[in-house]
Amino acid sequence: MSKLLSNGPPSPEEFQRQLTDFMRQHFQTLGAKTSSTSETAGSAEDPIARPSDSEFRFDKKPRDVKSYLDRFVIKQEQAKKVLSVAMCDHYHQVRLAREGKAQPNYTKQNIILIGPTGVGKTYLIRSVADLIGVPFVKGDATKFSETGYVGGDVEDLVRELVRRADGDVERAQYGIIYVDEIDKIATVSNHSGRDVSGRGVQTNLLKLMEETEVPARSPQDIAGQVQALMEMQQRGKKSASVINTKHILFIVSGAFHGLDKVVRRRLRDASIGFAAKNQSLDDQECIDQVTTRDFIDFGFEPEFIGRLPVRVVCQPLIVDDLFTILRTSEGSIIRQYEQTFAAYGIEILFTDEGLREIATLAVEEQTGARGLMTVCERVFREFKYELPSTKVRRFVVTRELVRNPLAELQKVLSLHEREERNVGHQLIEEFAQRFLETHRLKLQFTEAAVEGLISMALERSLPLRDLCAEKFKDFQFGLRLIAQNTGQQEFTLDHDSVVSPDKVLSDWVVASYRSAESKSNPA
Ligand code: ADP
Repeated sequence: MSKLLSNGPPSPEEFQRQLTDFMRQHFQTLGAKTSSTSETAGSAEDPIARPSDSEFRFDKKPRDVKSYLDRFVIKQEQAKKVLSVAMCDHYHQVRLAREGKAQPNYTKQNIILIGPTGVGKTYLIRSVADLIGVPFVKGDATKFSETGYVGGDVEDLVRELVRRADGDVERAQYGIIYVDEIDKIATVSNHSGRDVSGRGVQTNLLKLMEETEVPARSPQDIAGQVQALMEMQQRGKKSASVINTKHILFIVSGAFHGLDKVVRRRLRDASIGFAAKNQSLDDQECIDQVTTRDFIDFGFEPEFIGRLPVRVVCQPLIVDDLFTILRTSEGSIIRQYEQTFAAYGIEILFTDEGLREIATLAVEEQTGARGLMTVCERVFREFKYELPSTKVRRFVVTRELVRNPLAELQKVLSLHEREERNVGHQLIEEFAQRFLETHRLKLQFTEAAVEGLISMALERSLPLRDLCAEKFKDFQFGLRLIAQNTGQQEFTLDHDSVVSPDKVLSDWVVASYRSAESKSNPA
């Protein structure tokens, strides 16, 4: 690079030639590797790829969409209905536009989703995007800065859509952009005076929600810019380098703490003399009555809120809801646990009372359905660690297990060991029985010998039959010799004979010869 800089500024042509050489030298296949510092958008892959040949077909009805959502998302009935209608409206409109039959004054059905954390807001939208088959991107409003230089740039979201659509710009142009924590960029409600940055981000988002064209490469992405220059030079023409946002659906969401107070204040002011009716509204009922005016009073620019005509409220989830999520939702995390344990050949069986206990503990977390994962991780952490290395093949999730996972794990393990030892005793008896039938010699294992064998089999993960066959492989010969020498037919095997069977056997054999000798030479 120093050569580039040392001889004074080159002419643009010379600069481009030198840069081409430099890129060829350093990156062999030009443009194969570019990188960007931008976290959200178009960072790892080339956003400008093939033009789309994908056909977009949309023939769903609101009821179809709602029934699909019902499979995954529990409760949120009103939200599912309103969303289903808005989605169908939007994508029918997209289809018409693609057929050249768009209504000129159609208002895009951008959506505000209101609701506490973990109640299914993202899950709803992600599921709809899956059903319709459009790319989906989620960003966080607090991560963007007004200028885009410090934090991310809202336009990065659009570029990320292209990446999610595998470089298909056409498909990205009717994807879904979801911006969470939108309430954090409301400006007047945070009492620290007017927040210029929040307002700036609203303005930037507004531009996207209206129709605009976003460069497919971020101005911050120097390598990408250079690559575009190269491609232009190589192909002699510019590639499709902008993404039009006209048909991108925008969904913003947040918990909107304090919005109920704004609504309450308006209702109170409007109903002086009729106050009794509105005073009895709970927070949820207040939110259900929210108007554009309330959003403006909360701190949004009128133009911004005006571009979000659909309002959807998601309800908090109570114990019964969390229980139903665990038990019936197709996305329930208990399936995840079933799979995790199944990978080690272990079956986990959830009882309803166990699930209810998980739901009860999860509500205390106050993070909606996210609390379910927190609780399950806590409950099953040690089970996940210990059980794969044991012979336990199944266990039942009871209320007690959820309340006291460690104690119950010990019970599962010791119960298993008891069963294991019980079967172990029978297997060793069987070994002795077969030995008697085959060799006419009786083995009697002491309790210590039986325990020793069972422990060894467990430690070495060996079947007891194999362990006994290995340990006592020479006993049939040795004991027969002893029987010949001394007439002894019954042998007691103690712990030592289990630990060092060969030594014990050879001691016995030697002793039997001595005994035979002393019998024949009593003097
Ligand atoms: P948020 O409302 O904060 O966007 P999410 O939609 O991301 O919450 O929910 C987090 C997870 O919790 C989801 O991925 C899903 O597994 C589960 N979940 C949340 N709400 C529901 C619900 N109503 N029905 C079924 N699962 C849910």
